[in-house]
Amino acid sequence: DTATVWTAAWDRPAGEERARELFDATFGTAPDGVWSAPGRVNLIGEHTDYNAGLALPVALPHRTYAAVARRDDDLVRLVSAQEPSGVREVRLAHAVPGAVRGWAAYVVGVAWALREAGHDVGGFDVAIDSCVPFGAGLSSSAALEASVAVALDAVHGLGLAGGVDADGAARDDAGRARVAELCVRAENEMAGAPTGGMDQAASLRARAGHALLLDCRDGGVRHVPFDLAAHGLALLVVDTRAEHSHVDGEYAQRRAACEDAARRLGVASLREVADAAEGTGAALAALATAADGDVLVRRVRHVTSEIARVRAFVEALDAGDVPAVGPLMDASHASLRDDYEVSCRELDVAVDATLAAGALGARMTGGGFGGSAIALVRAADVDAVATAVAAAFAARGLATPAFAVAVAGPPAA
Ligand code: ADP
Ligand code: MG
Repeated sequence: DTATVWTAAWDRPAGEERARELFDATFGTAPDGVWSAPGRVNLIGEHTDYNAGLALPVALPHRTYAAVARRDDDLVRLVSAQEPSGVREVRLAHAVPGAVRGWAAYVVGVAWALREAGHDVGGFDVAIDSCVPFGAGLSSSAALEASVAVALDAVHGLGLAGGVDADGAARDDAGRARVAELCVRAENEMAGAPTGGMDQAASLRARAGHALLLDCRDGGVRHVPFDLAAHGLALLVVDTRAEHSHVDGEYAQRRAACEDAARRLGVASLREVADAAEGTGAALAALATAADGDVLVRRVRHVTSEIARVRAFVEALDAGDVPAVGPLMDASHASLRDDYEVSCRELDVAVDATLAAGALGARMTGGGFGGSAIALVRAADVDAVATAVAAAFAARGLATPAFAVAVAGPPAA
């Protein structure tokens, strides 16, 4: 008998109160306000964002809360309930790429990116608390950036991000697209993590009750209704708690391989190969003759087939045929495991165990090498599938996984 561990999402008032209390306990005053932003799961379209491809994330009900007060100098004081090391202090005048270490780089990086874009952003005090699991492939980093971005937008009166309607729709998507780009700069240049743009777009531009079809070539989005409960289904998230040390290097290698393949094929991005009317066969054959052709062929085959699977997934949702996405999830996982080689034992065990317990489809989500898997399950089976996964992990001596149910929540606000 294996107990299952659940990562519950805080309700908004409770999360806001936690950040407010941490702010008060740390700085001895009340903040100007509390803002928050969600983590995400990507339904399909993995390792496509940096190939100008398509992705389909949903915002989680799990959010990062930022209590913020503006200051009249250029000092940033920051504290996080998830970082026990205490209060960090950074002067914005000294905040340049490479100068800020650790988690503070994500926060200060947002202020830096806003200033680089010409916005009048000064110092601030900030207290962070979050129920988005860290490093679980659920994008705690983008949730942190986006929560700080909408907070700074508000306290400095920049008018960039607009508000969110009661039904969870952002009022100014164009403004949010620009804010998302600045968050990407913060993560790439200040935190030194070469991520694509999917995570920040999901946190800032998603809509409650919808998946976000994101076209990473032009930044365009479409909100695709995503209401699994109406179909008696649920999306189970399995946080494997596995973290492999070589993740950043592997990620950079995959990006480099895609850029190399695009260069050899004479295209701006692999999106062009995916969209080619004559199919991808000729491109793959051309790559196969190169010295390391076998690897490149498999990398390109993943990217192009994954973009096609995003389209098929959205077609199934639009047609109301939700169970049809199950085989697409399975195919995505196989492609990530065999062609792109970014899965790991824990992710494969999670996927296989959910399918053996009756899931309609399952795949790793996020960058891979640990992090989380998602499974489409009948709503009535959620607990049984989680129990089966926990048992499979225990039987193999793997770390105890944590579970969550993903319901598409509202964006940063
Ligand atoms: P993921 O985004 O998948 O959770 P990342 O490695 O991209 O994983 O980002 C995790 C990093 O983001 C953490 O190591 C930390 O530096 C920062 N971070 C995320 N959430 C918080 C938080 N609540 N408090 C402080 N730092 C955070
Ligand atoms: Mg991240």
